[in-house]
Amino acid sequence: MSPVTSTQLLQELRQVVPRNILLDSAEAMRPFECDGLSVYRQLPLLVALPEETGQVQWILRTCHRLGVPVVTRGAGTGLSGGALPIEQGLLLVLTKLNRIIDIDPLNRTARLQAGVRNLAISEAVAAHGLYYAPDPSSQIACSIGGNVAENSGGVHCLKYGLTVHNVMEVRLLLIDGECAFAGGAGLTDEVEPPHAPGLQWRETMVEIHGPVLADWQRLFAESWDRYAEQPLGLPAATPAAVSDGGKGRVTVNEARRRMGIQRSLLKQIKRAEHRIWFATAYFIPSWTLRRRLKQAAGRGIDVRLLLPGPITDHPGARYASRRYYARLLHSGLRIFEYTPRFFHAKTVLCDDWVTIGSCNFDRWNLQWNLEANQEIDDPAMAGAVAAMFEADYANSVEQTAEAWAQRGWHQRLLEWFWRRVERLSLKIRHRRRR
Ligand SMILES: Cc1cc2nc3c(=O)[nH]c(=O)nc-3n(C[C@H](O)[C@H](O)[C@H](O)COP(=O)(O)OP(=O)(O)OC[C@H]3O[C@@H](n4cnc5c(N)ncnc54)[C@H](O)[C@@H]3O)c2cc1C
Repeated sequence: MSPVTSTQLLQELRQVVPRNILLDSAEAMRPFECDGLSVYRQLPLLVALPEETGQVQWILRTCHRLGVPVVTRGAGTGLSGGALPIEQGLLLVLTKLNRIIDIDPLNRTARLQAGVRNLAISEAVAAHGLYYAPDPSSQIACSIGGNVAENSGGVHCLKYGLTVHNVMEVRLLLIDGECAFAGGAGLTDEVEPPHAPGLQWRETMVEIHGPVLADWQRLFAESWDRYAEQPLGLPAATPAAVSDGGKGRVTVNEARRRMGIQRSLLKQIKRAEHRIWFATAYFIPSWTLRRRLKQAAGRGIDVRLLLPGPITDHPGARYASRRYYARLLHSGLRIFEYTPRFFHAKTVLCDDWVTIGSCNFDRWNLQWNLEANQEIDDPAMAGAVAAMFEADYANSVEQTAEAWAQRGWHQRLLEWFWRRVERLSLKIRHRRRR
């Protein structure tokens, strides 16, 4: 492959990321020609300053396709020349990814983007009497990403350890950029309230690699092309097989045109032999789904529902779903209501089969929305999902048939009222569609 020129790389990147995050003139790139080891200097082909994680992914994927090497840079305070650009490469500067996602003072943890400065963490947690312990003398400028890469530490490391002793989890984006996430999380402040970190919604996302990515990309491009003015024009993805991967496929529901998620779920419920663990944010199931769940419980299968507790974004939907509790409990289902935060995850586990995605399996979802789920048929994945369910059950209140029968008239009235509202709104939508 002949070396790519700066103009070619710029042209390719402009198709996937905004022009203003790319620097190509020698003058603009000069401040990035070296890190703290300034005896070595080199201008790269191009400098990119992404503002969102998605842009990093597109940059990496494009460079990988063109065979362009990438050097990552935080604040550039490193003294070992690690952030020195490569002449034929791209310099990926992450200082604009500087958002503190949330702080959990009780557990003394914080989630951050890679470009957050050490001192910014200490400043943000000072009100709680805390500080970020690994404190290289460059902490006023250096970034957490650079700290992780260099395993940095200052005077406090004698007592509290180096970066490696203080980092609990790192999310990596690899150069091929080939991964997808499926699940119910929206990218809004409502899902992750910046000022109330304890109240972020309880979500489940699955990270996907391997050939099934081609199906996700096709689905994305298909939906985009149907509604956008300009087609997406993505090159066809051909992700390599993953050696230790399980079996998986994408299922889609699209109003009444495609019913893949629903059909597959009903089939798996019918086949299940041991367990059906069902988690959703809005439990307004169809008659068929309710019947299948009750039949399964009647066959002696462990059928459990994991649903939101009092914290929810749609109290009305919760009351409407509680209308079903009495009959389901009498049929032998177990019902858990999650209490710490709003439970917004959508996951079903039938024996060793798992489906995770955007679909709540409620009547609204199934009739009008475009939903996509990742199905996985793999005992190891099923084990991990079962452990996740167990952890959520431990944070939930279990409703029993006896206790449920004792609930007051006020509660019953609300259930009745919201059920009527739900039915009425379904009827209105039906009429409008005709
Ligand atoms: C005055 C001064 C004092 C210092 N004191 C200390 C000290 O007390 N203790 C100490 O340990 N170090 C010290 N350093 C060195 C340096 O500050 C640290 O190593 C710091 O962690 C580097 O962070 P940075 O964001 O500047 O990283 P950069 O210099 O930008 O990069 C450093 C390395 O990390 C990689 N990198 C950066 N961000 C990412 C990312 N997001 N993903 C993957 N790779 C990434 C780069 O490719 C490079 O290899 C000092 C430096 C100076 C100039």
